[in-house]
Amino acid sequence: MPTPEPLPRKLLEDFKTMTTTSKCSFSGVLEISAQRFLDSGPQGVECPDCRALRAITPRNSILRYSPYDRRKTRTPQTEPRWAQGEAGWEVISGAKK
Ligand SMILES: [Zn+2]
Repeated sequence: MPTPEPLPRKLLEDFKTMTTTSKCSFSGVLEISAQRFLDSGPQGVECPDCRALRAITPRNSILRYSPYDRRKTRTPQTEPRWAQGEAGWEVISGAKK
């Protein structure tokens, strides 16, 4: 039988794990046509939640935003990219309003 670790230390590690591996809630299939995406130029997609910019490669004509660690800064993205606007996904550049 291995000796269990003292409880306080275990609780501390659990807390650390919880706070350092916060995943962004935005993930899944994007409602962008793969053809439109490939024709557009920019391959980066900005997360509407934490503003992370991630390169997406369509697979079987599906664009998927896989789960990832939440972006820690709120610095606006400025390079050309896909972003979710009021009318859906669109290519924009410069800081988002
Ligand atoms: Zn995000």
